Amino acid sequence: MEIEIATIGGYEEVGRQMTAVRAGDDIVIFDMGLNLSQVLIHDNVETEKMHSLDLIDMGAIPDDRVMSDLEGDVKAIVPTHGHLDHIGAISKLAHRYDAPIVGSPFTIELVKGEIESEQKFGVENDLVKMEAGGTMPIGDDCELEFVHVTHSIIGAINPVLHTPEGAVVYGLDKRMDHDPVLEDPIDMERFREIGREGEGVLCYIEDCTNAGKKGRTPSESTARRHLEDVMKSVEDYDGGIIATTFSSHISRVSSLVEFAKDIGREPILLGRSMERYSGTAERMGRVNFPDDLGMFGHRKSVDRAFKRVMNEGKENFLPIVTGHQGEPRAMLTRMGRGETPYDIEDGDKVIFSASVIPEPTNEGQRYQSEQLLRMQGARIYDDIHVSGHLREEGHYQMLQALQPQHLIPAHQDMAGFAPYTKLAKSQGYKVGRDLHVTENGNTIQLVE
Ligand SMILES: [Zn+2]
Repeated sequence: MEIEIATIGGYEEVGRQMTAVRAGDDIVIFDMGLNLSQVLIHDNVETEKMHSLDLIDMGAIPDDRVMSDLEGDVKAIVPTHGHLDHIGAISKLAHRYDAPIVGSPFTIELVKGEIESEQKFGVENDLVKMEAGGTMPIGDDCELEFVHVTHSIIGAINPVLHTPEGAVVYGLDKRMDHDPVLEDPIDMERFREIGREGEGVLCYIEDCTNAGKKGRTPSESTARRHLEDVMKSVEDYDGGIIATTFSSHISRVSSLVEFAKDIGREPILLGRSMERYSGTAERMGRVNFPDDLGMFGHRKSVDRAFKRVMNEGKENFLPIVTGHQGEPRAMLTRMGRGETPYDIEDGDKVIFSASVIPEPTNEGQRYQSEQLLRMQGARIYDDIHVSGHLREEGHYQMLQALQPQHLIPAHQDMAGFAPYTKLAKSQGYKVGRDLHVTENGNTIQLVE
């Protein structure tokens, strides 16, 4: 059976991930993501109203025109997890394919939200929920399987397309976490089985984000302990404490909520995406928040919550807000600019349970946001975080588990592929033979 891979997006950047695998006449698409930095750089761009081709030209969504080079029918569109660089283009591209969108239940809920806020296209693809460990047939000869992985969002999976020529494992995005906070550990046992059963692994497509960092990525429980230590250190402070983290990082938000209670403060979630992600997780029973936890997204209800905090005393609350990257319209940035009823005073604490995404737009915006907070006397606690991506030894362990015949580095640009390529070469792979370093818009024929 012919096996061909199209590297559509996310092979020249971190963002707008999209890859297609053709097995004979059947095609499966993995991820359809948005490159948010290409959007944020323009002021007041409303992607909801924009046409796909304009977004492609901006470099914001994958240029899927290469799909016309693949001869076959798309049988499924499979987002691996709910981060925008993996689902953010579904509302712009999925309607072009007559195929269901298949994802884990949490991911599908988030996809539903994306589709509902879309204003340009009507996306009517079926939405199919499949749990980790589940399988579904693709055409007559192939099968799609979800393997549970750990990442900085719940409900992450690595999809595997089992073909008569071996398994194609799509490895974006994960950390090898054996002690995560809300979920089960990564299912390494299944990866090891897939590496050894049948024809083994024909191809592994790997997330190279942190390939250049030595050792292993620490577990989420490490970030949790760090956070607990910081929170307890400010327990006796009788002024304002504010925390921010990734809205989609439900495990971290849940730890923040828990530690707020531990130090005698009432947690409140503020900001549109904070309300959306945590609200979704709570409705689905994926997280156990206290019954009285307030979540506010709309401007008026946020302002009302802030006024209550100011009336009842800042020392009684922990606002958990959006804006960890200094995004101009996010809550923390607005607080820094004095645009909310919350007064930041000399000595107030701001806890960033996130690190800056190393990208110039983020770095600049985060710097500005921190300066605004500091100018009012805020004390900043930075980098209380662990990455959601594998480092070098995690990559090595994945290669040991899967023993793939072919490797395709992804989720980076050419410079970001270099450390992974070095590791792969040390394990006997060779560029041009079985190690396929590539860019956006290419196809790689693995089996003719
Ligand atoms: Zn991710």
